[in-house]
Amino acid sequence: MKGSEASRPPLMADAKCREHPELKWVPIQSRVSPKQLVEMRTICMSCSHRAECREHAITHDEHGMWGGTTEVERERLKSEGRLPADA
Ligand code: SF4
Repeated sequence: MKGSEASRPPLMADAKCREHPELKWVPIQSRVSPKQLVEMRTICMSCSHRAECREHAITHDEHGMWGGTTEVERERLKSEGRLPADA
């Protein structure tokens, strides 16, 4: 199991991202192609853990794709007041 998968909380053992270790779920933003971002976001949209995954990322200041959002997107949503700052 790759490091990016291992960092997912245990309750996400059946997470869809675990079926796609070839993707960079915890990337340095600039190294992920637009095509990969679309692919990851599409996978997240079909995952039953999407809401809790995003909450986890917000709470733990995670990097990469969590719950269909990147850290840049989560920061923007927080700054716009669309997500709780300390969820
Ligand atoms: S929402 Fe996306 S990143 Fe989160 S557990 Fe599901 S597939 Fe993985």
